[in-house]
Amino acid sequence: MNFNFEGTLTPADNRRAIPHTFDVPAGTTQIRMTLDFAPRHTEGQPYPQQISVYFMDPNGPRGEWSVPKAEGWFVNEAQATPGTMPGPIPAGQWVVFILSHRIQPDIPVRYTVHLECSDEPITELASDWKPGSTAPRGAGWYRGDLHGHTIHSDGSWDIPEFVEYMKSNNLDFVTLSDHNTISGLAQHRSLSTDKLVTIGGVELSTFCGHALALGAHQWFDWRLDINGWLTAPQLAKQVLDAGAFFVIAHPMAPGDPECCGCHWEHEDMMPGNAPAVEIWNGWWADYNEQGLALYYYWLNRGHHLVATSGTDIHGRPPVDATGRAAANVVYAEEFSEAAILQAVRQGHSYISAGPELLLQARSQAGDEAMMGDRLPASTATITARWNGVPDDGSVVRLIVEGRVFEELPAQQSGENSWTLDGVKWCTAELRDASGIPWAITNPIFLEAG
Ligand SMILES: [Zn+2]
Ligand SMILES: [Zn+2]
Repeated sequence: MNFNFEGTLTPADNRRAIPHTFDVPAGTTQIRMTLDFAPRHTEGQPYPQQISVYFMDPNGPRGEWSVPKAEGWFVNEAQATPGTMPGPIPAGQWVVFILSHRIQPDIPVRYTVHLECSDEPITELASDWKPGSTAPRGAGWYRGDLHGHTIHSDGSWDIPEFVEYMKSNNLDFVTLSDHNTISGLAQHRSLSTDKLVTIGGVELSTFCGHALALGAHQWFDWRLDINGWLTAPQLAKQVLDAGAFFVIAHPMAPGDPECCGCHWEHEDMMPGNAPAVEIWNGWWADYNEQGLALYYYWLNRGHHLVATSGTDIHGRPPVDATGRAAANVVYAEEFSEAAILQAVRQGHSYISAGPELLLQARSQAGDEAMMGDRLPASTATITARWNGVPDDGSVVRLIVEGRVFEELPAQQSGENSWTLDGVKWCTAELRDASGIPWAITNPIFLEAG
């Protein structure tokens, strides 16, 4: 049985999800789809049109096709186009949403959807991913990436290539966070080894901002923007209640039309119940500096927020790439997905493009706190320790309530202590002579009583 839909999109349709429903007959073993739209690129406009597709079966979300390609999309019980979950094809009402991210002005865009339901026997075999195993290792500092993409959304490499790259960079853990899909997580999990823990995740990419659900292994429907179905705080609550960790991703990234949905615009979540913010996304850029300033502003408003970083990598970087990306260096009680996520959740971490940077607080009574912790004292001695700093005129800064409290030259390694009285929080930053960070710590919160 075949179904055909067509429509016209103009810039007024941007940030819309346009549903097309169709009834899948009983006995269907496979659905195929093609999507054509034209013009792909309006002459004289800086960006091409951007359209993606979201699928629901009668039981809920089934897949997202981030970058529709000419060869089309398919799903059957054994296999599917990356981004979609293979499995039984339930009869009943399915929905194809045309997601209109960016339609350029002047010339309307015509699209046609062709769907084909067939009952031919499926001869492909289902993938049988078994979770990989990790040798136990004790408490310590572990370094990893919390944000990356593959062909399961808009990345260019497959999951084995993604994981191999992380191993070649000597990381201890890596999160897969494809846009609005978990279809790659079983394979990702199968690649955990003694050297690298693979962590579940998804990037919930709404039309008004992106958020990471770190440690997610289940589907979260991101469709906040459709018919008031969910608010951003409700989505965050779902993620947190399920035991995953919710991070506002790259809040100050450029938004439409350059990077559709990338700028954080959820007015009901500034930062609302979000427990964390990604302050270093990809290679350090001005939007990260603005994101860090926003993070400090939110801390000053009394929010107890964790800072994370993520390379947001989509494929193998060019060999001549010169940007500076950062890893999360976390103090985990053991080498496992659960312990690493717990350390991220507690802010027991700093963000670094190489050097070590530790921050510790000690009260007059002798109580101690590490990054991410709260020290119940109005007066405290704060100690920063750094190591492995390039000899490039770098400085270490103690940041107190968002302002530079003191800036010192940072030789290759060193430490310094300060006494703080009656302040609410502090962080440390290592920056090179041009001001680009090498490392940023999570805050220590100081509160009497
Ligand atoms: Zn994003
Ligand atoms: Zn991303």
